[in-house]
Amino acid sequence: MQKKPAVVTCPQCGKEVVWTSDSPYRPFCSERCKLIDLGQWATESYRIPQAENGAQEDH
Ligand SMILES: [Zn+2]
Repeated sequence: MQKKPAVVTCPQCGKEVVWTSDSPYRPFCSERCKLIDLGQWATESYRIPQAENGAQEDH
């Protein structure tokens, strides 16, 4: 008996996502879309770490 997997659309980009264990970020299509939805994309995950001024000047 084969069950046809459900297909949902990614709330972020609208891409179709097959609802299986192959899509760990469902209902999002990707980790990125999930992070965007969680509001972490522009804050934590995407923050570029900047060296503290003069903390480790290897020079
Ligand atoms: Zn998406």
